Amino acid sequence: MNLLVEVHAGLERQGPGSTETTLKALGFIDGIERISKVADLGCGTGPQTMVLASRLAATVVGLDMFPAFIDVLTASARARGVADRVKGVVGLMDDLPFDRESLDLIWSEGAIDSIGFKRGLAHWHGFLKRGGYVAATCPSWLTDERPAVIERFWLDAGSRLDPVERNIEAMQQCGYAFVASFALSEACWTDNYFAPREAALEGLLKKYPGDGAVEAFVAENRREVDLYARYRRHYGYVFYIGRKI
Ligand code: SAM
Repeated sequence: MNLLVEVHAGLERQGPGSTETTLKALGFIDGIERISKVADLGCGTGPQTMVLASRLAATVVGLDMFPAFIDVLTASARARGVADRVKGVVGLMDDLPFDRESLDLIWSEGAIDSIGFKRGLAHWHGFLKRGGYVAATCPSWLTDERPAVIERFWLDAGSRLDPVERNIEAMQQCGYAFVASFALSEACWTDNYFAPREAALEGLLKKYPGDGAVEAFVAENRREVDLYARYRRHYGYVFYIGRKI
């Protein structure tokens, strides 16, 4: 199993976020009682999938590329007694396995940047019903000053940061009416993600003493924490909510 999956499969979440943030984003969506089919893309082990399932009387499909994450999601849907309407699917966000115009809501936390914000929104558009909603978090620049070290870090991780206004424009160009955006709190990163991940990284170091690949992986994760501590004013995850027109 790769190290990323090994560290993250046992965590409650695989990226910055919180239950309150998911509920806040859901609050921007009209007519939630009419929503019958939801896809949660890049769901990981499904922290937000379960929040959506608890608030919506809908079928919620969590999709992720890693089977180990989907196994956790499936087990937790069973444990919560919602397995009849919460399903896990192994798949790719840029090659969705849904019927066209079949979804009322596409959700995605911490994942769209890996396929590109605009590219993801453009692909997903065809799977939403007209009037359906998209709600996705994406790491974004929050200030005009954009430290090169942060830009490099995210590019090396396979993502790029754009300013909020540019992402809103991209959303509109992809055929959505812009509904709302807001930045996630620092606690979503530090308390809810970095702290539990650090405990898992300590466990990894103990499990594989002297393993250079593990040490390099841990060092890179710690570098992310250090960069966030120093530069967090300039960037963060932003929730973007739009409606298909
Ligand atoms: N949504 C979860 C959360 O907030 O805790 C997971 C976020 S994690 C930062 C990003 C997730 O996206 C991972 O679970 C990863 O496996 C998934 N992912 C990345 N690229 C993907 C792709 N092209 N197709 C499907 N899943 C992908």
